[in-house]
Amino acid sequence: MVQCLGTIRPSPSLSYFATYKRQLSFRSSPITGPANGFSPFRRIFNAYLQSNSATTGAGSQSPSEPSEVIFIGTGTSEGIPRVSCLTHPLKTCEVCSKAAEPGNKNRRLNTSILVRYPRPSGSCNVLIDAGKFFYHSALKWFPSYGIRTIDAVIITHSHADAIGGLDDLRDWTNNVQPHIPIYVAQRDFEVMKKTHYYLVDTSFVLAGAAVSELQFNIIHEDPFSVQGLQFTPLPVWHGRGYRSLGFRFGNVCYISDVSDIPEETYPLLKNCELLILDALRPDRSTATHFGLPRALEEVRKIQPKRTLFTGMMHLMDHEKVSDYLMKLMETEGLDVQLSYDGLRVPVAF
Ligand SMILES: [Zn+2]
Ligand SMILES: [Zn+2]
Repeated sequence: MVQCLGTIRPSPSLSYFATYKRQLSFRSSPITGPANGFSPFRRIFNAYLQSNSATTGAGSQSPSEPSEVIFIGTGTSEGIPRVSCLTHPLKTCEVCSKAAEPGNKNRRLNTSILVRYPRPSGSCNVLIDAGKFFYHSALKWFPSYGIRTIDAVIITHSHADAIGGLDDLRDWTNNVQPHIPIYVAQRDFEVMKKTHYYLVDTSFVLAGAAVSELQFNIIHEDPFSVQGLQFTPLPVWHGRGYRSLGFRFGNVCYISDVSDIPEETYPLLKNCELLILDALRPDRSTATHFGLPRALEEVRKIQPKRTLFTGMMHLMDHEKVSDYLMKLMETEGLDVQLSYDGLRVPVAF
């Protein structure tokens, strides 16, 4: 069940847009704006139309193309490389040095994925989490993969590396589309009321200022539908007494921030084809995240067909850990790999 809260004060520009869009949807003639000439709403509407019909050009998706998961970010909160590693006067951090090179797979920003699936009107782009570095991730991957709209954002939990980019969504709601629906648990919405109070209650916004236009939808621990695709929350622990949500969509299970999986969540992970799972560091778990050994234990228990690890810190050397995981394929038949920023994985729903 989803409870739609919207923002506390709906923007007049949105109601105008809705009316305008409704009128246009009944005619096939070329679009014309209001009689009084230039209107910012026309610019927004045209951009919205272009986005939804963008089926040509490099990296764009047509309705006949398969669905996919795009790894927008695969790193822990501070990002890889760490600034402190690059400025250390005595020690050289091998992973961060490699990560400083553009295009290196150790270069990782905040953990997030984009679920992309075709709709009759064009591809639908659902983002899971928009963290502190969201702008930088979007700058890198959205233009090169032909991603224009953000049709919804689903929130796993309310740490800064999951919600710190909500303010940056203003570029989309000012220039691409009228608003973005956000799907969030009540406890995390309560946090957003403090961290992003002006996005929740737009009466704080001064006239003429343009902030993100977000529509908040409260989710519970039941399945909910986003643009025709069902998402099932996967409740997990992310530290003692702190809940985070993973999500299952089709046979893909995404759990980005986890220190323990409660027994009642395991049945929701059955027959998983692709598991995307938290693995912070190579040697051990922490109070809030799985380390690689525990993550592998969970893979053996859940038995997905394929697993991609995410949320890696700088101790996870992409090449070295990948070599190790490759051996598990030979010895145990485990299909386990590290994800990396920009990775695209076709999926079927
Ligand atoms: Zn480092
Ligand atoms: Zn977290």
